[in-house]
Amino acid sequence: MSTLPEPPPPTLRLAIDTAALADNWRALNALSGSARAGAAVKANCYGLGVEHCVPALVKAGARDFFVAHWGEVAPVLAHVPPEQLGVLHGPNTSEEAAYARGTGVRPVINSLHQARLWSEAGGGPCNLMIDTGINRLGVSLAELGDPVLGTLDVQVLMSHLSSAEEDAAISAQQLARFRTACAKVPHRETSIANSAGIALGEDYRCDLTRPGLALYGGVPTPSLAGQIRQVAFPQAAIIQTRNLSAGDTVGYNREFTAPGAMRVATVSLGYADGFLRSWGKQGYLAHDGRMLPLLGKVSMDMVVVDLAAAPDLREGDWLDVPYHLPDAAQRSGLSQYELLTALGDRFGRSVKADCADHAASAKPLAAQH
Ligand SMILES: *Cc1c(COP(=O)(O)O)cnc(C)c1O
Repeated sequence: MSTLPEPPPPTLRLAIDTAALADNWRALNALSGSARAGAAVKANCYGLGVEHCVPALVKAGARDFFVAHWGEVAPVLAHVPPEQLGVLHGPNTSEEAAYARGTGVRPVINSLHQARLWSEAGGGPCNLMIDTGINRLGVSLAELGDPVLGTLDVQVLMSHLSSAEEDAAISAQQLARFRTACAKVPHRETSIANSAGIALGEDYRCDLTRPGLALYGGVPTPSLAGQIRQVAFPQAAIIQTRNLSAGDTVGYNREFTAPGAMRVATVSLGYADGFLRSWGKQGYLAHDGRMLPLLGKVSMDMVVVDLAAAPDLREGDWLDVPYHLPDAAQRSGLSQYELLTALGDRFGRSVKADCADHAASAKPLAAQH
């Protein structure tokens, strides 16, 4: 078997500002008042990469981590002790319950079925999700009398808000239902607030908050705007430049027609990378603050931009993808969650240059014991 040479560097890169990530966690932890802030690290830290983000969060002080899938457990356990990791989807099969027991992570129990499976597998510390109106996962208030819940060793009693960023009345109703559940189910701690829930005030903070989006630079509610910094900085390389004449068209379905002579660049960035067609005519890339509008449709692996503002650019030059999330959401019509989690595997992810010290000084957890 011959060994392949190292591949050349990718033409897409994603710099993770781990100092901003750590600052965001500290800001959310401070806003959580007497509660401590955890961290939702599911979906590979919302697309940004567990290997870069989780160590920075640990170093900042986070101790309570959440993933959604069982397949997301192992990469996080490289940085976090198992009792600090909750699995939000919970065990739906005996294999999943056995995996929870074998790894020592905390399943979040979301139904009477899951409670039975967990008990039958031997049980142990778990979290319990109460549905207070999102109707997604969770035990309903009507089910709280079921004796199987009495077999659980509930560490954190949880619920999840459906509309924390927009509807105070609905959130208040959910909080009231959650309190009813708290009075009925023995537990050690309580937790209801996601990122936007933290901004709803003291009543929602309980013992533990569970921010996700805002850690990674998302601003779910204007009151958080001044406190949250951008974390993800995607860039794409120019792979060709060309000169168009009047009447030339660009890309699939010839959506753009050059009105006159113009210089354009083909950039290695497409919907396979999470840059969707919904960016449409609002979209642009940038170089040193100069805006380069998209021409025509995003076409699979490429976009074409107008170089009028930056005629000096050449093949191999890097363009910034505008990823200030509240602005990007408005321009693209995508949610801030979608913008982050869509960033594809072809991006080379690395810690932003001026944070490298910060990352290097993050000790592996084993060394702290
Ligand atoms: C994803 C998730 C969070 C984090 O929510 P954000 O809105 O990203 O802050 C918190 N709790 C649960 C149960 C989740 O699924």
